Amino acid sequence: MSALFGNYGKRRAEIVKGQGTIVEDSSGKKYLDFTSGIAVVSLGHAHPAIVKAVQEQSEKLWHISNLFGIPGQEKVAEKLVADTHLSYAFFCNSGAEANEAAIKLVRKHTGKKHIITFEKSFHGRTFGAMSATGQGKIHNGFGPLVDKFTTLPFNDVAALEAAIDDSVAAIMLEMIQGEGGVNSVTPEFAQAISTICEDKGVLLIIDEVQTGIGRTGTRYAYEQTVLKPNIVTLAKGLGGGFPVGAMLGTAEFYDTFGPGTHGTTFGGNPLAMSVAEAVLNQVFDPSFLQHVQELSAYFVEQLKEHLPATYTIQGQGLLLGVGCGDTEVASYITAAEEKGLLLVGAGPNVIRLLPPLTVTKAEIDEVVAVLKKILL
Ligand SMILES: *Cc1c(COP(=O)(O)O)cnc(C)c1O
Repeated sequence: MSALFGNYGKRRAEIVKGQGTIVEDSSGKKYLDFTSGIAVVSLGHAHPAIVKAVQEQSEKLWHISNLFGIPGQEKVAEKLVADTHLSYAFFCNSGAEANEAAIKLVRKHTGKKHIITFEKSFHGRTFGAMSATGQGKIHNGFGPLVDKFTTLPFNDVAALEAAIDDSVAAIMLEMIQGEGGVNSVTPEFAQAISTICEDKGVLLIIDEVQTGIGRTGTRYAYEQTVLKPNIVTLAKGLGGGFPVGAMLGTAEFYDTFGPGTHGTTFGGNPLAMSVAEAVLNQVFDPSFLQHVQELSAYFVEQLKEHLPATYTIQGQGLLLGVGCGDTEVASYITAAEEKGLLLVGAGPNVIRLLPPLTVTKAEIDEVVAVLKKILL
């Protein structure tokens, strides 16, 4: 018997500790964690720099609220926007909250409520973020949704061009749809979005909750494209396991989010900021990002060499997917877990590979060997 709601379905192994890429369950069995707690534990489990940051800050001050100045917020905001076209940060506690802030900011700034989103997108479970999410199964039973989101097919330039009119405040999208199947924005689609935003004055919100903070081999995934988002949302990897979210915006929005307009009790508290600072000190180092790109190239090469060509290798950086055609991947994920490998799906037919960014080539080799056994 459990006193928990059943909203997560059947739970898997009960993980009780971890070190780097390795975690251990309550029976002492070890696993390679290629989920990173869904792209969260960017520096692996129990990374010494994070442990140290938490220990030191926990002895000074955990929480004080946004009634007061928080030096850690200033530092983390500065790091997040340095060498970008973005100017300001707002801190919260999750990806959904970051997207709620973005939706509110766009409405207040433009006076319009129409936002274009895409099929198979995922933006979170709160009302605004859920309404932005282009998946019927996420909405089921919870209507009416928040006005007004138009969901278009992903990577369809003609459909996007046809949908743009004066009512559109913003386009909101993920650079790689993480939950929806590891689908990347094509260069043509990025170009079309860029042109539309420039010509029609439509704002661009890029949801980098999963792709941000080094996951794709650059600080933000948009940096690998022509896109210049007005707003970027972050969470998952930013806290390395501690709940932290952020919304970044360009200078134009400063007055829109004036005193008293938006806020949160917990967001950006000193403990959260100490961890985010420790994460960024590592991940935003160009040599670390270079290494992520090298690991990614190696991983992709090994997957292509060892898996039959019927499987498609998708994604970028260390947000990769193995597309299995029409085959459902749930049984593969269970088989991998029995063999000591933790994986997560992306939609029904794609296996998502999300190792910590600190993964080693030897660990990648082990995982490719397990996948080979399971998928042949
Ligand atoms: C996980 C995710 C969210 C939601 O984040 P939560 O922290 O679960 O609220 C939003 N957008 C994307 C792209 C995500 O992957």
